[in-house]
Amino acid sequence: MLRHYSLSTYFRQSFGCKVRKVPLDVGATCPNRDGTLSLQGCSFCNEHGSGSGLFGRGVDLEGQWRSWILGQPDKQGLFLAYLQSFSNTHCSLERLRDVLCRITALPKLVGLAIGTRPDCLDEDKLDLLASLDVHELWLDLGLQSSCNATLKRINRGHSAEDFARSVHQAAGRGIKVCAHLIAGLPGEGADEFAASVDFVNALPVAGIKLHNLYLCKGTPLEAEYRRGSYEPLGFEDYAEFLAHALPRLRPDMVVHRLASDPAHGELAAPAWASDKLKVLNRLARIMTRANLWQGKAAGAGDRIPPWFRAEAPLPPSLA
Ligand code: SF4
Repeated sequence: MLRHYSLSTYFRQSFGCKVRKVPLDVGATCPNRDGTLSLQGCSFCNEHGSGSGLFGRGVDLEGQWRSWILGQPDKQGLFLAYLQSFSNTHCSLERLRDVLCRITALPKLVGLAIGTRPDCLDEDKLDLLASLDVHELWLDLGLQSSCNATLKRINRGHSAEDFARSVHQAAGRGIKVCAHLIAGLPGEGADEFAASVDFVNALPVAGIKLHNLYLCKGTPLEAEYRRGSYEPLGFEDYAEFLAHALPRLRPDMVVHRLASDPAHGELAAPAWASDKLKVLNRLARIMTRANLWQGKAAGAGDRIPPWFRAEAPLPPSLA
């Protein structure tokens, strides 16, 4: 039973069909890795920055797009370009314009989601994004935690206030922001995660990605784990964190992700992080048993959101 406003539901409402995300590697880097801010990066991030590395291997944007779509069973569907790796607005305005121009010309594209950091956006870049002629535009903005002490500890290189400022600037231009939060950051427990959810909830954010922190091989955080100074969340704890967080979320907030998806070969620990489906199943069981749904504790009360009713009517025993 669907108890949250999923991205696939949102796409079906918007387009009447399935929309698939196509990950594109545009050869971006990150100010927290290239020396602009630091060379170390966030303590949980590996050198690949969640990227495929295809651009570095000489596969241009058009080639990446073509090969991804050709590999899909439903080649007739709609597609959304997803610039996930590193900080995709960490470049000159001219380069960003050139990249976006090529992406918006791709066939069957309905929009794009562009991942970046608050400190890689300025008024000109936001104006450029807002001017794009696409049906769907999402700005994926990493916050990870609303606690500045945690952001400092993980070497994030920006503050929660920087994030909030960028959200207001983007939302003021009609750009939909998708905030990223991580559960299980060093020094954080359920209360800190809930505080971060509440912080995002109070901003003009349209979507959210919730991640469980997993340890990538070769990262500073993995070294902390090996030394015994950091312990990742357990499976049950993460499912409980989610079940506590989702009812606090506004019912209009589109949930883009509920669990991390480690790339092949990068996971050092915990082992359960490789089984995303198990996390989602556990969450569904907890929410069903407790009769919880997104927004229930955020002012929606017992009014079931329309997406909930449309997707999965409550069984008589719970209604
Ligand atoms: S901002 Fe993103 S890409 Fe840059 S170091 Fe942090 S996690 Fe990695």
